Amino acid sequence: MLPRYHVAVFVHGCFWHGHDCNRAQRPRTNTEYWGPKIQGNILRDQRNADLLQQANWDVFTVRECTLERDTESLVDRLASLRNAVEQPE
Ligand SMILES: [Zn+2]
Repeated sequence: MLPRYHVAVFVHGCFWHGHDCNRAQRPRTNTEYWGPKIQGNILRDQRNADLLQQANWDVFTVRECTLERDTESLVDRLASLRNAVEQPE
């Protein structure tokens, strides 16, 4: 969180946050537990992001799989975030 600039950066583990990628495959056993559990996390993430945006915060979410596979575009995103923070509109 960067309160001075109203910027929130979240780093999400793919499994726990129900990302649509192959790191996030749900267990085949105990689905009646994992389904609602992960779904609840997704809804909570969405609610938190909505609340922050309503309060005029910029929300950036970085996924675990993006960190692993696409460091370059992540660095670009963070660089543009830094520019935005340094030059507020
Ligand atoms: Zn992912």
